[in-house]
Amino acid sequence: MSAAILNGVQTAQQMRAEVAQQVLQMKERGHQPALAVILAGDNPASQIYVRSKIRACAELGIVSEEILPPASVTTAELLEIVHRLNQRDDVDGILVQLPLPVQVDAQAVLLAVSPDKDVDGFHPVSVGRLVTRRPGLTPCTPTGIIELLKRNGIPMAGREAVVIGRSDIVGKPMAMLLLHENATVTIAHSRTKDLPGVCQRADILVAAIGQTGMVGRDFIRPGAVVVDVGMNRLTTREAVERFYPGDARRMEEFERRGSTLIGDVDPVAAHELASAFTPVPGGVGPLTIAQLMANTVTAAKARRGWGR
Ligand code: NDP
Repeated sequence: MSAAILNGVQTAQQMRAEVAQQVLQMKERGHQPALAVILAGDNPASQIYVRSKIRACAELGIVSEEILPPASVTTAELLEIVHRLNQRDDVDGILVQLPLPVQVDAQAVLLAVSPDKDVDGFHPVSVGRLVTRRPGLTPCTPTGIIELLKRNGIPMAGREAVVIGRSDIVGKPMAMLLLHENATVTIAHSRTKDLPGVCQRADILVAAIGQTGMVGRDFIRPGAVVVDVGMNRLTTREAVERFYPGDARRMEEFERRGSTLIGDVDPVAAHELASAFTPVPGGVGPLTIAQLMANTVTAAKARRGWGR
């Protein structure tokens, strides 16, 4: 079997076009949605992530504001920043870029964000709303994955879904969202016995582990839909040859950059066994920011009672 590619770039583009349309409609009603991003310190990876979020806002007509406290910022100072943003009516979404500097109590800062502006969906109130199916903001990566599956006509109701990984930002909310789509959901993790056997049950297999190409042939039931959340790097020629045999483009990228991206799923196994799968890159990655933009508009509408 040769698997269909679930193209996250395309789905993200659709989602972004819809967000841009909603922003236009909101502007006509008198409010332009706005996202505030707090980036504390000078972590280079965080700077790159924040830059792409700000760029997405600009493209879609969302107002963005960057708050850039120094690496020496205290918990009290960050709490004060968050409180001020909570109070501002023009700000719809507040995003605290993680990781925060080591001296900061990150939990206290995340807890301080108003749940109505919690566009990352990490606040315990947002988690509670998700679990109890109340309207609210849900974490961007798993919510984007549900959009990808729906828009590609992948049925979820009544199907067996296995999620590998139980983090608060991906695994657990992913499982809950699949449950709400009426899938029968299993959550697997590092203590799961016979992990390949458990994964073989899956019609829909989501890997959110952070382990290079770990999900191999023995994990994938022929015909399963495989979603690869992982973002890892191959840094040796041998590893590139092992995971991408005969792939000249990958090898060329490795030679040029010194590494190439890979997910948690062995790409050859996914190609051969799955009915459809998300490539890395170009699968799950682009959905996260698209969903962040969608969450900002959702928050803006909800705060004004303008419906969803
Ligand atoms: P975490 O490290 O927080 O969680 C990893 C989970 O995988 C844990 O629940 C852990 O189990 C489980 N796990 C680790 N090793 C194994 C193993 N050998 N067998 C079975 N389970 C295992 O990671 P995240 O959830 O934050 O992220 C997961 C991956 O997704 C990462 O590669 C990350 O970079 C990527 N990611 C990608 C995003 C995107 O936009 N594309 C967004 C967010 C994350 P246990 O709980 O038992 O320790």
